[in-house]
Amino acid sequence: MAAQSAAPRVLVVEDEPNIRELVCLHLRHEGYTCEPEPDGAAALKRAEAEPFDLMVLDVMLPGLDGLSLCRAVRNGRINADVPILMLTARREESDKVVGLESGADDYLTKPFGVRELVARARALLRRPRRS
Ligand code: CA
Repeated sequence: MAAQSAAPRVLVVEDEPNIRELVCLHLRHEGYTCEPEPDGAAALKRAEAEPFDLMVLDVMLPGLDGLSLCRAVRNGRINADVPILMLTARREESDKVVGLESGADDYLTKPFGVRELVARARALLRRPRRS
């Protein structure tokens, strides 16, 4: 982190436009560079092509679901150690476990407060990257 001077780049993968725009608005307000992406498969292509500092992934996505996307990113080369925050509409404990087992670092259940999301994003960006 010490050598990092550019704004953290966050990939936000969410197909619901209102949530995507709200999340990006607040992340940008926080000083981050936000890259919005509505489609899971397109998001994976981006994750395989360029490094990100954080990813916010919705579970229910067109193209490729968020859990599969999370696993694919973890098994990829460029963003294998990126912090990942999962979003889901489901509340069941088992879904939370599946999310964390698929390689997510943190988890938010919809409806969530955007200030909580920003606080968790900030915490994930402060964490040392796994290696
Ligand atoms: Ca969705």
